[in-house]
Amino acid sequence: MRKPFIAGNWKMNMTRESGLALVRGLMEKLQGTSSQIDVAVCPPSVYLQEISSALKGSAIGVGGQNMYHEADGAFTGEVSGPMLCDLHCQYVILGHSERRQFFGETDSSVNKKTHAALKFGLTPIVCVGEMLSERESGATAQVIDTQVRGSLAGLTPEQASKIVIAYEPVWAIGTGKTATPAQAEEVHAQIRGLLTELFGKSVSDVIRIQYGGSVKPDNAGELMSQPNIDGALVGGASLKADSFAAIVLASCGLAAAK
Ligand code: PEP
Repeated sequence: MRKPFIAGNWKMNMTRESGLALVRGLMEKLQGTSSQIDVAVCPPSVYLQEISSALKGSAIGVGGQNMYHEADGAFTGEVSGPMLCDLHCQYVILGHSERRQFFGETDSSVNKKTHAALKFGLTPIVCVGEMLSERESGATAQVIDTQVRGSLAGLTPEQASKIVIAYEPVWAIGTGKTATPAQAEEVHAQIRGLLTELFGKSVSDVIRIQYGGSVKPDNAGELMSQPNIDGALVGGASLKADSFAAIVLASCGLAAAK
């Protein structure tokens, strides 16, 4: 059985003050849910220290939004896996579509980062997803196949069992357009099949596949009830304690069916 996992990607938003207020609100609203669901927030790296300290002792995890694959060295502006661990992160988002679109990330760089994250003991949340033009031209399945194979190349089944995948159709991110539960489930099922081919059924059965793209309190429950959707990577709606907590609560208790 896969425990649902909801992660909030704050992107380049929030201040020290508003971030702290947000996590204090979440700790209050999400008390008692940790046996049913895993929750994490991914603040900008400059706030990781403070947010990690505020969340100490709570069940809410912390993740980075990106990392470089080397442990240290002359890589101006980058943050490494050991640095994220030093700030008590358990997760790191890798290959988010904004990183791929605006910062030149490729399946190959995401692959190096995935290996590095696992080496340093972080759980990578590996993002894949097609652009609108790719969906409209019928290329979705091929794009997802290439991204999953490329991003996970060379992982052993044991390593693969520790990752999380986020399927995020680029046309649904921050646009208010959500994939229908059926559209999302179709791709999630494809990814699950691919993971079975690459790593075996016992491994693919335990890998959580999140959906991302305009997840809101009113669409979360139906998305999460799909057989291969195991949680969500949430952008805009993760910036307010009320909406993020409502998404988490709507997703609780839905693992039993899977
Ligand atoms: C995201 O940033 O991964 C995302 C899915 O954003 P939003 O929820 O705002 O569409």
